[in-house]
Amino acid sequence: SPRVRFCPSPTGNPHVGLVRTALFNWAFARHHGGTFVFRIEDTDAARDSEESYEQLLDSLRWLGFTWDEGPEIGGPHAPYRQSQRMDIYADVAKKLQDAGYAYRCFCTTEELDARRDAARAAGRPSGYDGHCRDLSAEQKTAYEAEGRTSIVRFRMPDETITFTDLVRGELSFSPENVPDFGIVRANGAPLYTLVNPVDDALMEITHVLRGEDLLSSTPRQIALYKALTELGIAKATPAFGHLPYVMGEGNKKLSKRDPEASLNLYRERGFLPEGLLNYLSLLGWSFSKDQDIFSIEEMVAKFDIPDVNANPARFDLKKAEAINADHIRLLDPKAFADACTPWLRAPHANWEPEDFDAAAWERIAPYAQTRVTVLSDITANVDFLFRKEPVEDQASWDKAMKGEPAALLTTARANLDAADWSDPESLKQAVLTAGEAHGLKLGKAQAPVRVAVTGRTVGLPLFESLEILGKERSLSRIDAALG
Ligand code: GLU
Repeated sequence: SPRVRFCPSPTGNPHVGLVRTALFNWAFARHHGGTFVFRIEDTDAARDSEESYEQLLDSLRWLGFTWDEGPEIGGPHAPYRQSQRMDIYADVAKKLQDAGYAYRCFCTTEELDARRDAARAAGRPSGYDGHCRDLSAEQKTAYEAEGRTSIVRFRMPDETITFTDLVRGELSFSPENVPDFGIVRANGAPLYTLVNPVDDALMEITHVLRGEDLLSSTPRQIALYKALTELGIAKATPAFGHLPYVMGEGNKKLSKRDPEASLNLYRERGFLPEGLLNYLSLLGWSFSKDQDIFSIEEMVAKFDIPDVNANPARFDLKKAEAINADHIRLLDPKAFADACTPWLRAPHANWEPEDFDAAAWERIAPYAQTRVTVLSDITANVDFLFRKEPVEDQASWDKAMKGEPAALLTTARANLDAADWSDPESLKQAVLTAGEAHGLKLGKAQAPVRVAVTGRTVGLPLFESLEILGKERSLSRIDAALG
């Protein structure tokens, strides 16, 4: 059964492209009853941070991606943090050199640059020219005597590398486009080019599914795998599938730096994990021609890599929001109420956490469930219940108070005072008859009542809202509005 890996580097905040990669790997593993390996690629001490590592774990948990092997839970190939596997990489690098698959390269940056520029000017391939491929022992000693440092370079075979990408079909890379590449820095630090395929080999990964931006490293990894197999370190070369680019504004690749790329933004706005994952799954895949709302279980049941589309996918925030709204509607009422509660218990203006009234919230929640796009929208919908005063919104006020609102509001207040406050229908009749007395339809008549009580021109069904807020608080707000 397949073994896939999700192997981010802990640099910065998780972004949606990363989440899409995690999702496709996870869904593929779950669909096929395989293993989802979570590995942390933290060999770049200058860029990696512990905070980012914690965030990655927290994000995966929030999204509901359980891993079968990885940080905190361990597994047969532990450790799963590359920073704890340095001796493994040193050992493999040495074996590669001893067997001639890799060699020490003494070229300085200046020399490399100068030769590259010259090659370009002459119209020749400008990658590494193989200068140190076959140095004699004397030459090496001489370079060392000069005080030169050396990196370790992998010797690419002089042949075209062809493989069948699971998404893109057959791809070929000719040798002049894949020059020998560095695998260990001068200071001994192993590079991504080495540690990533070495771990994939040792962890017996069968399918490498990752973003198209990594396609150029695949021929190198295939060559390295061949060497590792000959050395008895790798069992078999995995299959590779490259997921399409995600395009953002202006048809440019969505970049980590685009605000809408940040996973935290979606969490902070109150996306449901299932809503966000539903949306992200559509970036390069589709569930069916006529259905784009589905549960994660339904996705897992259907998902497979051959169905991934190679064309760039378009990131569309509006569509993500619409899908999330649909998932909010699908929650059972209790789950919806629970999901919103942290937002309502957070500190707000004119509203202390102890003003939150769980009983009132439970009653109003079903009316709100049909109206919010993201959970954080809940605050503006129900704040009138918990704030000491309604919001002061002059624009709403001016809009609702066109005509003769004071006279109407006085009549409505008198009628409401006499109404049955356990029955929203009775409250509606009170406002309806007040409107009739002033020649106003219900819609126009209820507008000033709503603004007086909630501070807004639009909101949840008004008469249910009044009933839940209660007679005393509702009437005193109308009084305050009447001044
Ligand atoms: N650590 C690499 C990254 O974050 C992993 C790339 C890969 O999947 O091979 O880009």
